[in-house]
Amino acid sequence: MSPPGSLPPLRPDLQLAGGYHSPQVSAEVRLNTNESPFPPPSAFVKELEDELSRVEFNRYPDRGATELRTALASLHGVRPDEIFCANGSNEVLQCLLLAYGGPGRRALLFEPTYALHGHISRLTGTELVSGSRDPDFRVDPEEAYRLQAEARPTVTFVCSPNNPTGLSEPPELVRGLLDRSEGLVVVDEAYGQFSSWGALELRDPAAAVGAPSRPAGPVAPSRPAGPVAEPQPGARSLVVVRTFSKTWSMAAVRLGYAIADPEVVAACEQVVLPYHLSVPTQIAGTVALRFADEMSERVALIEHERERLADGLGELPVDSWPSDANFILFRPRDKPASAVWAGLLDRSVLVRDCSTWSSLAGCLRVTVGTGEENDRFLTALRGCLR
Ligand code: PMP
Repeated sequence: MSPPGSLPPLRPDLQLAGGYHSPQVSAEVRLNTNESPFPPPSAFVKELEDELSRVEFNRYPDRGATELRTALASLHGVRPDEIFCANGSNEVLQCLLLAYGGPGRRALLFEPTYALHGHISRLTGTELVSGSRDPDFRVDPEEAYRLQAEARPTVTFVCSPNNPTGLSEPPELVRGLLDRSEGLVVVDEAYGQFSSWGALELRDPAAAVGAPSRPAGPVAPSRPAGPVAEPQPGARSLVVVRTFSKTWSMAAVRLGYAIADPEVVAACEQVVLPYHLSVPTQIAGTVALRFADEMSERVALIEHERERLADGLGELPVDSWPSDANFILFRPRDKPASAVWAGLLDRSVLVRDCSTWSSLAGCLRVTVGTGEENDRFLTALRGCLR
């Protein structure tokens, strides 16, 4: 028994789990957290200020986030009751696991992938089943289906494009997981605007897997706007998660959402705290959606810079992997990743050290920045590798 006045021990299943945080070290060039390097358009800031000046700050927010969900629904060609919004997509993931994970249930993922999928699974007492990837970081579909049949997870995570490795998952894999799933298939599309396809296409009866995919477009609807189509049978278990933190240049706001079956949305609403989404957050999201074209231009710029960065890395003694996102994973061939990370920081360039993550020995991840930031990174890296 602990003496009176002492602190209770931490929950036993958390005692070995650390937190998950990217070091917030100060550096002139910050390329470690996959944010957009560009601020939002100044007209967005102006409209946001205008709207905020009319807020009744003494009142709680609209619990249904009606205006924001309606605007998002029309962006994606779905119904508002198919949208769940929260403080960043991390909170969306947390709600999904609170509702569908928990003791006695399993979540399946394919490592290396976004660390929070595993981290929140553990925090919610959900047993984690990890599949692996081949040396090119691709998931073997047969192995994935085998694991799914064996583990019978209530949640299967797919990250597309996958963080930190960069490539989108093929539609055939997601379709295959959906067809076989007894639980939810959660497709985390935090970087979906950079991908040539989006999982919402799988809900659309007209969308056949294998058909040539059209560019999903940066912030374009995942299916053409128009009458709302009923989801394809079997697609009820699909949950697509998106964020305003990357392409929308709004990491500071903390806004993410899921597009899911209304029953899943209702389950998330059951576990989330009342009034979790502040009025400023709801307004920021609604106003941002009026600037879709400007946001799309940013995606095109970042994609152009990504190719320049990839070419620059190609001239250095590093291995790097192709990316459909706003970051590139690379591995210095002749020097330890930690030394290169520290050398870059000495030159005031901050990247992500992934070298201790599962299957990523020796790897670093660089976020695509502005042209100038990318040049500084390449020059600094050249200096470190000398
Ligand atoms: N999913 C993935 C794959 C991510 O990389 C991130 C951010 N690192 C998130 C979700 C969380 O984004 P946010 O909570 O800012 O919406």
